[in-house]
Amino acid sequence: MTIEHRLAPTYAQARAELSAAAVRAGAGVTAFPHPSSGREGEELAIDVVTVGPDDADSVVVIVSGTHGVEGYAGSAIQRWWLDERAAALPAGVRVVIVHALNPVGFSWVRRVNEDNVDLNRNFVDWSQPPPANDGYGEIADLLVPADWSEESQATTTDALMEVAATVGMQRFQEMVTSGQYAHPTGIFHGGSGPVWSHRWVTERLPEIVGAARRLCILDLHTGLGPWGHGELISVDDIGSDAYRRGTAWWGAVQSTSGGESVSADLDGDWLSGIPALIPDAEATTIAIEYGTVDVITVLQSLRADAWLHAHGDSSSDAAAAAIRAQVRAAFVDDDPAWLATIIERFDDVSGAAISALAAG
Ligand SMILES: [Zn+2]
Repeated sequence: MTIEHRLAPTYAQARAELSAAAVRAGAGVTAFPHPSSGREGEELAIDVVTVGPDDADSVVVIVSGTHGVEGYAGSAIQRWWLDERAAALPAGVRVVIVHALNPVGFSWVRRVNEDNVDLNRNFVDWSQPPPANDGYGEIADLLVPADWSEESQATTTDALMEVAATVGMQRFQEMVTSGQYAHPTGIFHGGSGPVWSHRWVTERLPEIVGAARRLCILDLHTGLGPWGHGELISVDDIGSDAYRRGTAWWGAVQSTSGGESVSADLDGDWLSGIPALIPDAEATTIAIEYGTVDVITVLQSLRADAWLHAHGDSSSDAAAAAIRAQVRAAFVDDDPAWLATIIERFDDVSGAAISALAAG
């Protein structure tokens, strides 16, 4: 049997194909349904597939769809792993596949969730006031204007590029993407409290990891960096034990706190919360960020998406389909060469982690 590896066209198809791959691998699937339904009326869920012994000392968690639309690539990688690598998993290691951490964004072809929230800006300490991002406020109305005509797009984009030229591209990226908590219909919004997927991580992940002493989390992302390249992004400080483990396993790891990464230093990413959530395991966590198109093209797609949901008609407007296609094209590439390239990288990264953990 030849198994075709390509990106699924819809969430429902990605989910069905993942489930079929789990069956082929002899692995069980546990579904955690989301209260809302998807763009085609389908059931939405986080699906968890487990391979290997329940009492394994080491657990590798592979996560897709933290940023909804990025799940089309992540899901294809997870399916590939189940078909091509699950059977060769060494003793003492369990692999847990978390499919569609943000299923609503996955189904609606959005980076954000049902609340227009970026899940990776939502893991702040909600007992405190959320971080301020005055830089975002200065350009909020330019980023997501009320009108998205060609003329308005041209005017606001020119104005934003002027700001970028004045403050520098690095500062501009930080203003736009580091997270903001004051503009709920804007982009990179962190929310106003823990969202559904955040609560799922808090309530479910510790029991899924169980008594494992060593934990590796590989969180699959797309949309930043050169085409097909998979940068490994760590939220751990340079010099920390977790960062040192990461570089020993994988070589180059870029820390967001060190200014080394294609990503800005973020507020509220979910991997930063893992050591406190699962304190008994030695945790090595990494985001793999696969590049697609240039940052401006990605930014334009996010602006269009935010405008659609704030001011347009996301359910019936003909423009909505075009914007979803624009977002999809910014975050995944249906060229089989892209998928082959990112899978090859994932094979190296996941293989190195599994070997290191199996070696003890
Ligand atoms: Zn992402």
